[in-house]
Amino acid sequence: MDTLTDIAVQKAEQSRLPEVDLDNPGFGKVFTDHMLEMEYKNGEWKQPVIKPYGPIQITPALSTLHYGQSVFEGTKAYYIDGKTVNLFRPEKNYERMANSCERLCIPKIDRETFLEGIRKLVKLDHKWVPEKDGNSLYIRPFACAWDTQVAAKVSDTYRFYIILSPVGSYYDAPVRLITSQNYVRAVEGGFGEAKTAGNYAASFYPARKAQQMGFSQVLWLDAFDHEYVEEVGTMNIFFLIDDVLITPPLGGTILPGVTRDSVLKLARSWDMDVEERKIGMTEVMEAARSGKLQEVFGAGTAAVISPVKEIRHHGELITIHEDGRGPVGQKLYDTIYGIQRGKLEDRF
Ligand code: PMP
Repeated sequence: MDTLTDIAVQKAEQSRLPEVDLDNPGFGKVFTDHMLEMEYKNGEWKQPVIKPYGPIQITPALSTLHYGQSVFEGTKAYYIDGKTVNLFRPEKNYERMANSCERLCIPKIDRETFLEGIRKLVKLDHKWVPEKDGNSLYIRPFACAWDTQVAAKVSDTYRFYIILSPVGSYYDAPVRLITSQNYVRAVEGGFGEAKTAGNYAASFYPARKAQQMGFSQVLWLDAFDHEYVEEVGTMNIFFLIDDVLITPPLGGTILPGVTRDSVLKLARSWDMDVEERKIGMTEVMEAARSGKLQEVFGAGTAAVISPVKEIRHHGELITIHEDGRGPVGQKLYDTIYGIQRGKLEDRF
């Protein structure tokens, strides 16, 4: 399929942009004038179409609503100047989406359609990319089952969409985390590494409990020993202990973050000691008690690098950052955000 020329465009009659405050858009609340839509039926993905953003018609029997066969991605476009908008490694999002599709039995989307679809849509709605420092245009591609049959089976039909939303920065406050002995996010053999709705649905109840206790998020631990650190809400986690940067290894239960990958590549390029290995809460708490725990931060598209202020584990509270990021987290943030905003060269 000649994807470049085959994305038909139906333009919105009137832009909604004048109604939107791009300096304070919130997160994922307002959407741009257009969206991309593509249908899968009779064993193939059809031609994608860019059309005005708006409601889509579904029936109550839509299989996605009942069985959750859906996958999504999240990446951002950044304002550079009046003529240029930057995307940050969207091919990584394609690769992850392809893996998520495989795990959820969703037919794979063509790479060029995914990437060119993003580019063409962002170009069309480029005036929606916020200029304000920290703000950006969030890109949300997603695919889901479209059969109208209440039956627990792999769907025969699907839809793929890309929608765009101007966003502010995601976490305002430093992150306070609590571990759980009762709830887990993912198990080996499950689909923790896929970006699929069910993983988020499973996390909301424990996350709400954590929030009721005054914490921002659960620091997820492994399902067997409730000891080894996995990740946080929508971020991968990093610890700086005794000048060694440590993050849990990808082993099927953790979402392979694009930011995580960028952090590892940058830290290695700076000749830092970097370890992708299992890290237990016993080690983290001991490092905190002995003063060796220098920094803890989450890494993800939403906030790039979020400093972790506190962690509570088995009733013991450790404080890492009173406010702001530590020097390594800050250097990573400045570099990654600098690349995203086109101020630094992307050499990685
Ligand atoms: N873990 C989870 C569960 C997430 O939802 C995200 C956000 N996509 C991440 C980690 C970080 O991934 P990325 O750096 O690609 O945003």
